[in-house]
Amino acid sequence: MAKLSPINKTDFPMWQGADAVPDAVYLDSAATAQKPQAVIDALVHYYTRQNANVHRGVYTLAEQATEAYENARQTVADFIHAEDTANIIFTRGTTESLNWIAQSWGGTYIQAGDEIIITIMEHHSNLVPWQQLALRTGAKLRYVDIDDQGLLDMTAYRAMLSARTKIVAVTQVSNVLGTINPIQEIGQLAHAAGAILVVDGAQSAPHMPVDVQALGADFFAFSGHKMLGPTGIGVLYGKMALLEAMPPIEFGGEMISKVEKFQTTWADIPWRFEGGTPNIAGAIGLAAAIRYLQAIGLDKIRDHERALTAYALDQLKAIPGLIIYGPQDAAQRGGVIAFTLNGVHPHDLATVLDTQQVAVRAGHHCAQPLMQRLGVVATARASFYLYNGQADVDRLVAAVNEAKEFFQQ
Ligand code: PMP
Repeated sequence: MAKLSPINKTDFPMWQGADAVPDAVYLDSAATAQKPQAVIDALVHYYTRQNANVHRGVYTLAEQATEAYENARQTVADFIHAEDTANIIFTRGTTESLNWIAQSWGGTYIQAGDEIIITIMEHHSNLVPWQQLALRTGAKLRYVDIDDQGLLDMTAYRAMLSARTKIVAVTQVSNVLGTINPIQEIGQLAHAAGAILVVDGAQSAPHMPVDVQALGADFFAFSGHKMLGPTGIGVLYGKMALLEAMPPIEFGGEMISKVEKFQTTWADIPWRFEGGTPNIAGAIGLAAAIRYLQAIGLDKIRDHERALTAYALDQLKAIPGLIIYGPQDAAQRGGVIAFTLNGVHPHDLATVLDTQQVAVRAGHHCAQPLMQRLGVVATARASFYLYNGQADVDRLVAAVNEAKEFFQQ
């Protein structure tokens, strides 16, 4: 097999320069991704040459900042194939996006006796907001289970749907199992039951082409920092009819049309949902990240990660005592591999791997109900991006083997 090289590593300052550790292996992109120079440059350019508040000033600099911020919205809209820029709301990240849907749409339309369907593989960000909404309103929260492969039990999902179902909220790619869920089918079934579909795109948008309209998503949430962009910026996409029916939940400057002493009218969508000074630099940095990803091509990134994941699955499977969670077939999963080593706590494993300069995550990955379902308290997790290659997997495998010897002595 030809060696799988990274798509690009040289654009990432993390591995360049005199004080860099060029052979450090970073396998935690599911938590957050490294940043290419182009993103850092965009942030520096904004702060050094364009810094002004948006939507307020009449002077040139403020107009330039506003244009850059609104152009970023256009870049995001194109990236996920949204109908229009008005469908794109900038948030702090996936967590905030999902909380806003639960609080605003959910808080307005969910009543006692309604049902909210999520899955057992959800990240806490797509679980706790629905759980709290259910507790607050008297709605029922239901979980779709997984099979032994870590694939969603679609038969159970079908059986769960009814006229009582109001929301189906599901992750497109699991941050633990790696499972890629059949969103289109899930959405069609949800819509046939009269429910809306909320998609957690935190682990999909960075790694594969996403078309929110083709997916049938009513809401779609993702984070900039997992896709080479800055922290503190994310996106909430919503269908216009739903956004129009949603009350804003953060009040203040920027989001109003007219304020009188005892009443206020809202600004147009999307600005009515963006109260206060937004993360201007974050939006501009996210747009730079998107342009970087688009120049490579999301198809190419997906193909690369699939090949790397297939290789890693093969190599890891050969280690006695190592258990891999999630689908065996790389075509059914994103570039995320959770694993445990018999007799070794995942935290100890990750600590020993760190001594070999291999960074993997260990813990419950913000998915405690899934850990319980899998019968573990924690796992180690390696996750890939375009700057990883076969050499990184080889270093991971060598380090796991060394850890195994270390703990068995
Ligand atoms: N959903 C999934 C599937 C995730 O992997 C994450 C991040 N680990 C989140 C939601 C939350 O993203 P953020 O912390 O950027 O809000």
